[in-house]
Amino acid sequence: MSTEPGLLDRGEAKCELCRAGENLAGYEIPPHSDGGVDQSILLCDTCRSQIENPDQVDINHWRCLNDSMWSQVPAVQVMAWRMLTRLSAEGWPQELLDMLYLDDETLVWAKAAGDGVGEEDAVIHRDSNGAVLSAGDTVTLIKDLNVKGANFTAKRGTAVRGISLVADNSGHIEGRVNGQQIVILTQFVKKSN
Ligand SMILES: [Zn+2]
Repeated sequence: MSTEPGLLDRGEAKCELCRAGENLAGYEIPPHSDGGVDQSILLCDTCRSQIENPDQVDINHWRCLNDSMWSQVPAVQVMAWRMLTRLSAEGWPQELLDMLYLDDETLVWAKAAGDGVGEEDAVIHRDSNGAVLSAGDTVTLIKDLNVKGANFTAKRGTAVRGISLVADNSGHIEGRVNGQQIVILTQFVKKSN
């Protein structure tokens, strides 16, 4: 669509998510935008392409949501909510999401694209004590683990630093042991502080 003057005004000629000032265009918020200003958002190329191609997401780019999520514009709130929801397994986006308040109508709109639907009971990683794990945490193994496909045992007490979370399986994390990236069951680890 052409970039409407109203949208440029509202966004002060900057990307409404990351404040970039170049390669801007209006983006009709799926799935039901009428193309009007209230149901569109002014986006830069970078934001747009990452929204449309979830496999190309540069997580650090979305630190911008730290500021833009406080926008008073519902369309901006909706896109901030959707991106934070999409990235919530990274840890910090979930923390922002916990602070982001949307009124009922805006929340329904935010969920209309299917992001975050049914996630209430999904994909929260917890250690053997029930503590919530985040990407980047350090955990300790609470028993000897035979590593499948590798010829070693990961010893009880081994610290695994900088874990990552397996997005679609709350029982699995990944971490580096003996120089190898392995999948570890959350029930066999304890979070270190
Ligand atoms: Zn942007």
